[in-house]
Amino acid sequence: MLEIGKYKIVSAKTGMFRLDGGAMFGVVPKTLWAPREDVDDQNRILLATRTLIAVSDDRKRVILVDTGLGTKWPAKEAERFAITPDAGAIARSLAKNFDLSSDDVTDIVVTHLHFDHNGGLTEWVDEPGQETRLLFPRARHWIHRRHWEHAQKPSDKDKASFLSRDMDALRADGVLVFVDGDAPACAIEGVRFFVADGHTPAQLLPIFDGLDGGLMYVGDVIPTSSHLRVPWLMAYDVEPLRTIEEKKRIYADCVEAGLQLAFPHDHRMGGAKLDFASSRPIIAHELSM
Ligand SMILES: [Zn+2]
Repeated sequence: MLEIGKYKIVSAKTGMFRLDGGAMFGVVPKTLWAPREDVDDQNRILLATRTLIAVSDDRKRVILVDTGLGTKWPAKEAERFAITPDAGAIARSLAKNFDLSSDDVTDIVVTHLHFDHNGGLTEWVDEPGQETRLLFPRARHWIHRRHWEHAQKPSDKDKASFLSRDMDALRADGVLVFVDGDAPACAIEGVRFFVADGHTPAQLLPIFDGLDGGLMYVGDVIPTSSHLRVPWLMAYDVEPLRTIEEKKRIYADCVEAGLQLAFPHDHRMGGAKLDFASSRPIIAHELSM
């Protein structure tokens, strides 16, 4: 567990899946990325989905950042991405680390609505493929307005990443709290928002402020510790040159303010403190979270 400012923070692995290695590394040749990855016979690499759980000292704020793939997966789609969700992971982590339950969650930062990040906000009520319901109905669900609007009408390039079944209940239930602008104020004490546009429009990334450098959930700007090098980008990004600028802005904050990073998809570690002494960022140490 990490202590950052007024928060105690853990990274809960909410499931495992696989995506095409080429898509995950864009123009980087397989000879460079493969040695570090668990690659299967379909060229898919092993990835985790990770939820950041942050609880304030006074226990008034119980925050989740992203909720993973969830359980709404027909067999054929689950097989395509080798999806193995761990449906009870968030509840178990809340109970074990904080003696809390899912009903105690007050806030969820929905970084973006790609199916591997927030399919876990909802579940099917009875029949698979039918009605869905919210899993955290009492929590405020923070999302950038510009991202929500894009998710309702994605482009031909990225529409496969958005599933309407992940959004139906969100649309109906009034739990969404919209954030606006490029540098939005954050109503959650001790948290700032970074808005990133390279991977998808208006990804909302929280930074937990602390005295010795804060912790940023870097979302799909830097999905795993294999994506630390600035040009190692995913082919999914809608504006890859903006992702490069965003990585550089994040790294400047690491150097100047000691910012530490929490990854959404690394199956090996929840996060890392980076070292910039050489020509490219390397891991100084893994975070114990
Ligand atoms: Zn994404």
